[in-house]
Amino acid sequence: MRKDVRILLVGEPKVGKTSLIMSLVSEEFPDEVPPRAEEITIPADVTPERVPTHIVDYSEAEQSDEQLYQEISKANVICIVYAVNNKKSIEKVTSHWIPLINDRTDKDSRVPLILVGNKSDLVEHSSMETILPIMNQYSDIETCVECSAKNLKNISELFYYAQKAVLHPTGPLYCPEEREMKPSCIKALTRIFKVSDLDNDGILNDNELNFFQRTCFNMPLAPQALEDVKNVVRKNMTDGVKDNGLTLKGFLFLHTLFIQRGRHETTWTVLRRFGYDDDLELTQEYLFPLLKIPPDCTTELNHNAYLFLQSVFDKHDKDRDCALSPEELKDLFKVFPYMPWGPDVNNTVCTNEQGWITYQGYLSQWTLTTYLDVQRCLEYLGYLGYSIINEQESQAAAITVTRNKRIDLQKKQTQRSVFRCNVLGARGSGKSGFLQAFLGRNLVKQKRVRDEHKSYYGISTTYVYGQEKYLLLHEVLPDFEFLSEADLACDIVCLVYDISNPYSFEYCAKAYKKYFMDSKTPCMIIGAKSDLHEVRQHYSLSPLDFCRKHKLHPPQLFTCNTADAPSKDIYTKLTTMAMYPHAKLRCMCTCNRCTFCICQNLLNSELLRSVKARLVTAVLNRHMTQADLKNSTFWLRASVGATVFAVLGFAMYKALLKQR
Ligand code: GDP
Ligand code: MG
Repeated sequence: MRKDVRILLVGEPKVGKTSLIMSLVSEEFPDEVPPRAEEITIPADVTPERVPTHIVDYSEAEQSDEQLYQEISKANVICIVYAVNNKKSIEKVTSHWIPLINDRTDKDSRVPLILVGNKSDLVEHSSMETILPIMNQYSDIETCVECSAKNLKNISELFYYAQKAVLHPTGPLYCPEEREMKPSCIKALTRIFKVSDLDNDGILNDNELNFFQRTCFNMPLAPQALEDVKNVVRKNMTDGVKDNGLTLKGFLFLHTLFIQRGRHETTWTVLRRFGYDDDLELTQEYLFPLLKIPPDCTTELNHNAYLFLQSVFDKHDKDRDCALSPEELKDLFKVFPYMPWGPDVNNTVCTNEQGWITYQGYLSQWTLTTYLDVQRCLEYLGYLGYSIINEQESQAAAITVTRNKRIDLQKKQTQRSVFRCNVLGARGSGKSGFLQAFLGRNLVKQKRVRDEHKSYYGISTTYVYGQEKYLLLHEVLPDFEFLSEADLACDIVCLVYDISNPYSFEYCAKAYKKYFMDSKTPCMIIGAKSDLHEVRQHYSLSPLDFCRKHKLHPPQLFTCNTADAPSKDIYTKLTTMAMYPHAKLRCMCTCNRCTFCICQNLLNSELLRSVKARLVTAVLNRHMTQADLKNSTFWLRASVGATVFAVLGFAMYKALLKQR
């Protein structure tokens, strides 16, 4: 809303402009007035809309045309004053004043006009008969009012209307010729209806109406008022009320009614509360609240945001299959000005048999957006009405900015729940297959992905010591020349080679030596396509010897050419290493049977995850204590947390299952 309002009074000499201003200020009729009143400013707290208001007089005798034009261009609203007993002053409204003002203002940004018929104390009849046709002819005329400076009739009202015309303009909302709301207003109110329809049944029930009322007007509706509103709608249309709640049609009708009765500030209050500006666009402050992200910090959604997104999912998953069909997804994004998710999203997150984004996949995609492009995430949350529904100051309340990674490393502890793993490797080494396998897709399923729908990201959850964590895989293009800082910054690196291609390991070795040997980022070498025949690599060292030499975890054999969904073990390992880069979880054998490997395997089994997490972490603790004594207290703490999480997680999962 505007910060101040500038009202200009124009009209023929002697119609009473100066007297009107003086009457307003002194609350009595001045017998003698100067030709022109000084500009006055009424302080915010004594005006009805609590906005400082400047009132500017005009006098032909004292001012040049040039000065008049300047004042016209500065004004937010112009009152054209005539005297009801002076026909000529009425004629001049259309023959002189309206054209003069229109010539001085842009077509797109016309100032609202108010026709003021002064000296109503002098006549018996009203001038409305002459004025209404003029109003119909010019849509810039916001309203007209008859008043008297002499007996103070309608003086405050006049200035209130002027103020309102600026603060709550009718123009963007309503088309007087058609007698209906403008399309952009209908669009905005439709979005507001959808956001407020918490159960998405197309009806605002009493609870939802009350919530709506409370958010917009800071007070609940009395039960009787609620009935009254519905009765008004019932009386006027057949399908405005359904199942004792308000339909979209009824909701729109109510607003049309507000506007037609001159109560458009009600509609404006609603629109502004939901983030709209005077052009009915969502404001930048609403969509992009300030959020400071210091270097080496990442952005994640907090618990409340996940709960909110979960409720959004639930209200759109109409058939309760825990996935969003194309129709359901379209419905979910109806409150957006555009469809934010393209077909590549289906190849970035988990989908069901039909290729529809699952509940898990949906949350993963939100997590990804938050991590990679938090501004976009804020914008999306804004469209969904997060701050309104969750009663938060702004969308920024949904975001956790993690602490600087260097502090995590120092303290050997992290609160993060999203870890980024960059996947590097020569062309054709199996990087994309590695990403897709994380989403549970074997080679056969991967072949169905169309090239133009390919994604260079993959994100899903893994469990590390019973805690759910997100692992974000990013496939980096193999061109060395184009590797940027951003391509390299991550929590863990995967270097992928194709065991059946003798020329593929060299890339890994080179990349390691060039970028990661001296960095603190943990690395894992992946031998992809392990279902194929292994050949000797054309490199001075074998992959295993290379790993030994550089004290790396031995190459992890991996294949996505499986009958069922590929194994997730490797991703859990990666997440663990990303979380605890200090823990030196490097075993130099390839037996896959040492404590670390066993623990990881055990952790992956569904049964142990919930019940025996304590046992497993205990085993692991022992291992870790031996490996790094200094870390023992930290690990102990981690394991206690993990057990609680595991049990809680399980209970929640059961509760969820029951619900569905
Ligand atoms: P301006 O030239 O438009 O600023 O008009 P003024 O305020 O100077 O008023 C012109 C004359 O009309 C003065 O003699 C006022 O006293 C008189 N006048 C102004 N308003 C009213 C009114 O509401 N009723 C009556 N009867 N006279 C008015
Ligand atoms: Mg005057």
